[in-house]
This record gives sequence, structure tokens and C-alpha cells, in this order.
Amino acid sequence: MTRQIGCLLLAAALCALTGCGGAAEVSSDGETSQAASSAVQTTQETEEIASSTQQVFAMDTYMTVTAYGDQAEAAVSAAVEEIQRLDALWSVGESDSEISILNDSGSILLSEETAELVERSLTLYQETEGAFDITIYPLMVEWGFTSGEYQVPTQERIDELLELVGSYKLEYDAETRQLTLPEGMAIDLGGIAKGYVSSHIMDVFEEYGVVSGMVSLGGNVQTYSTKTDGSLWRVGIENPDTTVEALSNVDYVGILSVEDKAVITSGGYERYFEEDGVTYHHILDPATGSSARSGLLSVTIVSEDGTLADGLSTSLFVMGKERALEYWAAHSDEFDAVLVEEDGSVTITGGLKDCFESDLDYTCVEN
Ligand code: ADP
Ligand code: MG
Repeated sequence: MTRQIGCLLLAAALCALTGCGGAAEVSSDGETSQAASSAVQTTQETEEIASSTQQVFAMDTYMTVTAYGDQAEAAVSAAVEEIQRLDALWSVGESDSEISILNDSGSILLSEETAELVERSLTLYQETEGAFDITIYPLMVEWGFTSGEYQVPTQERIDELLELVGSYKLEYDAETRQLTLPEGMAIDLGGIAKGYVSSHIMDVFEEYGVVSGMVSLGGNVQTYSTKTDGSLWRVGIENPDTTVEALSNVDYVGILSVEDKAVITSGGYERYFEEDGVTYHHILDPATGSSARSGLLSVTIVSEDGTLADGLSTSLFVMGKERALEYWAAHSDEFDAVLVEEDGSVTITGGLKDCFESDLDYTCVEN
């Protein structure tokens, strides 16, 4: 048992740092602290394999990179450099990032990498029928999710800002990579960037001949190969709400055993505030301009493609269970999902049948 727990990746971090076992704790200003997921691995079997771990704070969260192999240290250092480089490229909080320059100037020739992520975002916008929309940013600002100065905007103000939302309004030329925003519009890659980063680190690992590794980017985990003893990585899905009766007795919704997979969770509990007894969180429904209220507490996506997994965790959270399962049915070769509803019901998709364990009752849907 002790060993099992030692091998767990605690997919939502706070717990890993504080030893608590449930939903993330809320600090006095009502904002959840984003902290690192962390991997704890027993060392018995790995003594002869060099390993390296580094923690870094980037993209508003603690990130942990771990690698095993002869060049483990160089691999982890290179990965951390890449994290910092991509953070500087896409941060909306830094005025000289490529995205800030675009948002300020209204038009830019995108770098190749930014273009790649913008194109993935635009594809997801279409495929999710607008549930995933990087142009939601003006509303993120208005609600105060970017500054921490939270406020509930009037419906009039929300309607006004919704005029600036809709990725179809962007002018993008894939040949030249020129992106132009109509007046007042702004974009934010926060719903997908961390997944791109974790996928990218898998390429860095490959380049450095890493034999086993993982990254944990504040609740987003991506694993490289198996653990060094050949067993699967075990990734815990954080309990999104211990006040829900059905979830009150478990530390984790479940544990996924995986190799070469991203396991990425989105939930309303990650960043939120309360006003007049109502909770508002940081995943907005582009159809309403307010926090998505789809009946889900969290969505976990499992996929080899970290970028897709991150984009879809946000999207399926917005869609709600019914639409999410329809979406999965049409794309079941690309990803699997674990959905947790407000009443604590847990649904997993067919591809996870043999790799999901839970103390809770759950339903498995097949395609
Ligand atoms: P986190 O990054 O907190 O782990 P998500 O991957 O779900 O969680 O991303 C949430 C972020 O995505 C928000 O902070 C915001 O920047 C952006 N976002 C919010 N709503 C949407 C949406 N409907 N489509 C695209 N991006 C969104
Ligand atoms: Mg996401």
C-alpha cells in the first residue's frame, strides 16, 4: 500500500504538497492556489538509472519535470528552458509576449509555433461548435480572472463583450501566418498552452534518449514510456468536490494506469470566487459569457496528444455530459474521458475500461 501510494502521480497538486486528500484548498481571497502535481517514485528498481527532477513556476502554476536516462539532467534542463521560452511567448501577463503584442497591436505575423497552436485552437473551435474559443479573453479580463480582482459584470456588459467573441471573426492567413483581430478583440491560449508544452517536452525527452519520464503542469500530467521498472504510471484524478455526498469519502475520483499518455483535467474548482452565495469559475461558456454551468464538476481527458487533451478538457467541461459523450463517440480513436457530475456520478469512456480503478461506482460507456 505504502509503495502504491509512493508511485502515484498526484494529478492535482495542492494535495501533493500539503498532504491533504481532497479538492484544492481555497485561500482567503477565494482563489485556489495552483500548485504542482508531483511524482513520487520508489527508487529501489531505479538505482542504476540516472534521474533528474526540477520544479519551475510558469504559466501560473508549479510544474515538475522528471526524467530517467543517461542524459536525464540535460533533458530536464532543456525541458525547463523550453517551458520558460513558451511561457514568455504566450503569456498574456507579459506585455512583450507574442500574444500580448498581437492583442495590443491587433495584427501580427505569427511565429511558426504560435501559428501551430492558434491553428489547433481554430480547428477545435470548429469541431467543438464554439465551446473552445480563444477569443473569450475580453470576458476573462472583465470577470477579473486575469487580475484576481473578481467582479460579476452586468448582463449588459456581458452582452457587449460577447460581440467581441467568436473565433470565426479572426482574419488568419495560414500561408503567411498573418493574424488580424477586429477592433477590441483579444486572444488567450490559456486553455490549450500547457498541453502543448507537455507534448513538446515528450519530444525533448526523445531527443535526449530518456527512457522514462513525466511532466506535471499544475493538474496536467503527461507520461513518457512506462516507469523504469516497466510498470505503468499511476495518475490520480483529484476529487473535485468533497462536499458532494457521493464524493465525500474518497481522496481520488480514480486512478488511471497509463504509458505515453497525457492525463489532463479541467474543473471549476481550479480558479474561482464567490459572490452572494454563487460560485463563479474560470472556464467560460462562449455562448453565455459566464462560467460554464453544464452540470460537470470536472473533465479528465486521456490522449497521446497533450495539446488535444488540454483543449478538449476545457471544451468538454463547457459542453456538459451529453454533448461531451456525443463528441467522444465521434472521436473515440483520439481520446478517452472521465466525467464527474455535480451529483458525484462518474462516467468513463470505453478505452479506459482496463486502466481505471476507483472506490466509487462508475459507468463505462462504449462506442
Ligand atoms: P487550467 O489551465 O486552469 O488547467 P483549462 O485548461 O480548462 O484549465 O483552461 C482554462 C483557461 O482557458 C482559462 O483560464 C482561460 O484562459 C481559458 N478559457 C476559459 N474558457 C475558455 C473557453 N471556453 N475556450 C477556450 N479557452 C477558455
Ligand atoms: Mg484545457
